[in-house]
Amino acid sequence: MTLTILHGGTTLTPEPAGTADVVIGGRDILAVVPMDENRAGMPESPVALPTAPPGTVVHDCAGLIVAPGIVDGHLHILGGGGGSGYHSRIPELPADAIVEAGTTTCVGMPGVDPISKSPEALLARAYALPAIGPRAWAMAGGFHWPPPTVTGALVRDLYLLPHLLGVKVALYEHKATCPDLAELTRLLRELEWAAGATGKACLLHVHLGTAVGDPDLLVRALDGSGADPRRLQVTHANYSPATLDVAVRLGAAGSWVDVNPLINPARITGAVAPTTAVAESLARGVPADRITLSSDGNASVPRTLPDGSLERFAYRTELLPTVRSLTEEGILDLPDALALVTRNPAAALGLDGAGMLRPGVPADVAVLDMDLRVRRVFRDGVEVVRDGRATTPTPFRPESPSAAGER
Ligand SMILES: [Zn+2]
Repeated sequence: MTLTILHGGTTLTPEPAGTADVVIGGRDILAVVPMDENRAGMPESPVALPTAPPGTVVHDCAGLIVAPGIVDGHLHILGGGGGSGYHSRIPELPADAIVEAGTTTCVGMPGVDPISKSPEALLARAYALPAIGPRAWAMAGGFHWPPPTVTGALVRDLYLLPHLLGVKVALYEHKATCPDLAELTRLLRELEWAAGATGKACLLHVHLGTAVGDPDLLVRALDGSGADPRRLQVTHANYSPATLDVAVRLGAAGSWVDVNPLINPARITGAVAPTTAVAESLARGVPADRITLSSDGNASVPRTLPDGSLERFAYRTELLPTVRSLTEEGILDLPDALALVTRNPAAALGLDGAGMLRPGVPADVAVLDMDLRVRRVFRDGVEVVRDGRATTPTPFRPESPSAAGER
């Protein structure tokens, strides 16, 4: 078995582990070995280096951060869009672009268009991505209620298709057909049953829009269903002060609050800045370990601008820049901010072993510089990003330099 040692980086599991060696053997993490003061007088890397067998690969990570790979719970791997004409449909997201963002686990999200972006197509994309990119799961559902299914019923899909981790619905959304109270209550009961039957999270992932509606709808559905509050995750919490209020009340009662970094006042009038949304959630009693950030990458952008043209908007993920802003603004320290994109989403999604560095879990690791830019990424112990670029470029990327520069 080949050993790889990430040597001497500032290691966050995401809990702080000090300066440490992260030892990867094959596909798994074998050890996280602190180089602390207690070992004064010992060789610089006390366990890993002196005893490392021949062929061991050592990456010097001094001055860098070694962290779990990002867990992105809301990513439009199939391409979102389509709400502003056929020409506004977004193409599939290449695997190399996903890992270059530091993401080693993602959940493919259905979006506005359930017809050309069917659940079958979404699942096929999730099956394809791990070949050169992140491990990938998917959500059922989408903007239409009742949503299209593979087997004829949502609960059968969840039971029979292991890659499905839950159901997305849209509420308070002009473009969507939304479930009513009775339908939400029934859906939560079905998810509760499916979670028990399958051992999966079977999450109800609720996109909050800005249309007027009963602000207590989800509270009443949860109460009526008797479902575990952790079965519910509200996303786009920061779309407006009203959506944030709905999300925070649910978060304080035990549900997950998901903040979207693409929604910010610079792009969307009336939106709440992502860092403000996290700060307000914390101030109003949502525990830090129940808040997640998801990228919404490759979503229903570009938007149509007032002059009728399309916004210029390439795929990017704002997750790590938002983590950095949370620390710079003094809202969370780095380990807790990093947990919002690693350990917390893994917990919400029931992905045991993802989003943390500890012995025995798959070696999904991101090596970042001190500005949180991605330098290296390992997935299952394989180096998929080196010097910030994917080691295996997607075979389908356009060749022109201008196209490459767009990503
Ligand atoms: Zn989305």
